[in-house]
Amino acid sequence: MKHIFYCSKCDIFTMSEKCLTCNQVTQSQKPARYVAKAIIAKYRQKAKKEQNLI
Ligand SMILES: [Zn+2]
Repeated sequence: MKHIFYCSKCDIFTMSEKCLTCNQVTQSQKPARYVAKAIIAKYRQKAKKEQNLI
């Protein structure tokens, strides 16, 4: 699994060491439960989008 960084300012996760939204340096430390939730939510959103496209 790749490193996931977290921007506390935007409350978002990114693969970049700098936040793409606010350009702030992101943190590699993350609350594990929250990360899992965010990832699941992302996959659900993606699955929904793909379903709508078909
Ligand atoms: Zn940010």
